[in-house]
Amino acid sequence: MEETLRLLHQLQKVDSNLDDVEDTKGDLPEIVKNLEEKIATLSEKAAAKQKYIDEFVSSRNKADNDIKDFEEKLKKYKEQQYQVRNNKEYDAITKEIDFAEESVKTLGKQFENFENLMSIAKSELEEYTTALTEYSEALKERKEELAEVSKETEEEELKYNHERQKIVTRLSKDIVSRYEKIRSGRGKAVSVIRKNSCSGCGNRIPPQHIMEIRRNDKIYLCQHCGRIIVSDELPAHATR
Ligand SMILES: [Zn+2]
Repeated sequence: MEETLRLLHQLQKVDSNLDDVEDTKGDLPEIVKNLEEKIATLSEKAAAKQKYIDEFVSSRNKADNDIKDFEEKLKKYKEQQYQVRNNKEYDAITKEIDFAEESVKTLGKQFENFENLMSIAKSELEEYTTALTEYSEALKERKEELAEVSKETEEEELKYNHERQKIVTRLSKDIVSRYEKIRSGRGKAVSVIRKNSCSGCGNRIPPQHIMEIRRNDKIYLCQHCGRIIVSDELPAHATR
């Protein structure tokens, strides 16, 4: 168990070093991630808008074709109107003409409506496209900056990641996952007894518990912050 505690303490040190390396990159990784997310969302929106526009185009074209059909019919009806033989036939053809004229009017309104909606959708799409271009340019610049910084830190990262790997393989999966869980919530997962307090949260540790922790025979969690506390005497031991 003492070895496990020592390894956990080392793992925390390596991870803190990795955090420091990450810090030298500043906000860049976050900015890049945000831009990538924004671009993904906008692209989806633009694709949806394009689909919407395509639907309007086909609805508008259908209205246009229907108008042409009715106009064709109207022409025929009007010719037939001159050839009717009785009132009954005249009334029937007049009814057809009224219906066709009414339909042309209604379809004309629909056509206009589709045109209006389409032009609104098109200007919205244009806004998306402009924003997409801006974000993409910004992303390109930021990525180049990040690549520049990363090149400088790459060696350190490799070194620490290698150290990390060596430590992790010597710990049980269970303990590593406990460690990761605390770390993801707290930033640091392992603290040390410092001046009878937890170095992570600064709260005092009762003397009885300090004695227990110094026995190095179990994983002891701080009652206040939940971090793993290791003995202040532990790091002084020679490692490996
Ligand atoms: Zn604590």
